Amino acid sequence: MKKKNDERISNVKQNDNKANKDYAKVNSGVFVFTKSITVGELAKKLEVNASDIIKKLFMQGKMVNINQYLDDDAIGEICLEYGFDFKKEEIVDEVDFEKINIEDDAKDLVERPPVVTIMGHVDHGKTTLIDAIRNSNLAGEEFGGISQEIGAYQKICKNKKITFIDTPGHEAFSAMRMRGASVTDIVVLVVAADDGVMPQTIEAIDHAKAAKVPIIVAINKMDMPGADPEKVINELMKYDIIAEKYGGENIVCEISAKKKQGIDELLEAILVQAEMLELKANPKRYAIGTVLEANLDKGEGPKATLLVQNGTLTSNDYIVCGTSFGKVRRMTNEHNQILKEALPSTPVSVIGLSEVPLAGDRFMAFPTEKQAKDIASKRQLKKLEEERAANNGVTSLDDLYNKIHEGTLSQINIVLKTDSTGSAEACKASLEKLGNDQVKINVIRAASGGITESDILLAKASGAIIYGFNVRPTAVVRKKAEEDKVEIRLHRIIYALIEEVEDAINGLTKKEEVEHVLGQAEVRNIFKVSKVGTVAGSYVIDGEMHRDALCRVIRDGVVVYEGKIETLKRFKDDAKTVASGFECGIKVENFNDVHEGDIIENYELREKE
Ligand code: GDP
Repeated sequence: MKKKNDERISNVKQNDNKANKDYAKVNSGVFVFTKSITVGELAKKLEVNASDIIKKLFMQGKMVNINQYLDDDAIGEICLEYGFDFKKEEIVDEVDFEKINIEDDAKDLVERPPVVTIMGHVDHGKTTLIDAIRNSNLAGEEFGGISQEIGAYQKICKNKKITFIDTPGHEAFSAMRMRGASVTDIVVLVVAADDGVMPQTIEAIDHAKAAKVPIIVAINKMDMPGADPEKVINELMKYDIIAEKYGGENIVCEISAKKKQGIDELLEAILVQAEMLELKANPKRYAIGTVLEANLDKGEGPKATLLVQNGTLTSNDYIVCGTSFGKVRRMTNEHNQILKEALPSTPVSVIGLSEVPLAGDRFMAFPTEKQAKDIASKRQLKKLEEERAANNGVTSLDDLYNKIHEGTLSQINIVLKTDSTGSAEACKASLEKLGNDQVKINVIRAASGGITESDILLAKASGAIIYGFNVRPTAVVRKKAEEDKVEIRLHRIIYALIEEVEDAINGLTKKEEVEHVLGQAEVRNIFKVSKVGTVAGSYVIDGEMHRDALCRVIRDGVVVYEGKIETLKRFKDDAKTVASGFECGIKVENFNDVHEGDIIENYELREKE
């Protein structure tokens, strides 16, 4: 039942079969259709003779009968023959709320707060700025502290709200975008005044531009002696970020996140930018929005931070999120206060969902339990069908051999991670050249850096094998890959990687030695010992470390050294093995350049069964 005094309109119309009834019609000389139709139906709609159509198609060498369905091209050609224009309209059904086009009456629209994401190069001060904003006690705000539990919050500046999304870095931003979610209205690009434009600054610019989101530049660390804002402004011009004072569109603020200087001005700049964007939403509809993050709370079950993007979410609504369904049991804000309702652009933490959704999932609220349940189950079905259709199901090399042998595979999807951008490009080019008439190689992601959960996600979703060149997954990522049955193939020589794929295409399998990872240790302290060299005071985080085993040193997911463990010690004593959860001293043979934070992985080679 719809709740009393609830004036909100629903996001889906019940029993809306319009799409099905009007699947094809002639509208002022244009034949508009939504799905394929038969020769007979087309003849009726165009008011021509069916046998005439059959004849025309016959002349083109196509034998059809009156009950045969026509493809889009044939429909188009026939329309043109009879002097009609044609147009295929995509119908988006209610189940597809990622694509649904919500149309609000202009009179219902009201201003909504901007949603802001902070991006920039590592160490340029994103986290410090986020903290400065989080903890700033702005005039007009009732509450100071914000719970760390929620990754988004609102601040009030000049009686207006601004919503901040806390996940700095581009991973989260691009992961969301990859899943079709765009939540950010404004990007604040942090650039350190003493360092200038750096690789991730450029990456952030690319991301923001691809998402068509305006950029406000925050030149940070203005308190540093070497601060040179003009240099930053000049460097940014190369990337089409032009400061207002030079006639461009980008607002530039000079701040010191550490000294909390210029923060108010930055917030005001955000409001100015927001005003230009004329951000509006309709609070008088059921909520629709995006999952910002979600996890499984031990006591409370699935817990998600949702951003309401349009409509109002109340604490009794039924929601569908991804494919899961639920009733909002409790809704809280960033101050851990219970909310009855959340207006557009409000981030809230919600419990009551049946499953943990994924960041980037869309959610929609419904007036009745029945409607929500119905849509959730239709979405589950649809997802299953899509997965079946889209996924050629190859996520391991063995699968690949089999499918190639059976002749049922025409494309190999690969996610490629390498130690540098240069090698990613080189490797991608070589791999794509390997394709032949029967099998095409499709590198769906080629990037530098360690193998991450997002790679696993992408590989799983697209039936891809992950290839790593000189990079490693962390233990957590490796486990995720095992769970998701995604195969990760690791190589240290480009040639070996290429050869393996080439063999796969040719349907050759090889008996091979496979690597078996014994354990990983994290380097916590460095000791320089005279005559011995650098000893890494380490903590075993996974598996076991073995003396004399092969090992590699991994820094930020990239292999920096390959060799052997020379000595392994527990306190002062030599140890044969050290188990997970214990500290040890490791000396890597012929290698003294270990850094704190490095991962030492040891492994052995075993013959593949
Ligand atoms: P992130 O990697 O972009 O999140 O950068 P952090 O916020 O972790 O900052 C990196 C380093 O720069 C830290 O040591 C901060 O204390 C320092 N830092 C950040 N903002 C400022 C600033 O405005 N002035 C100065 N002098 N240091 C800053």
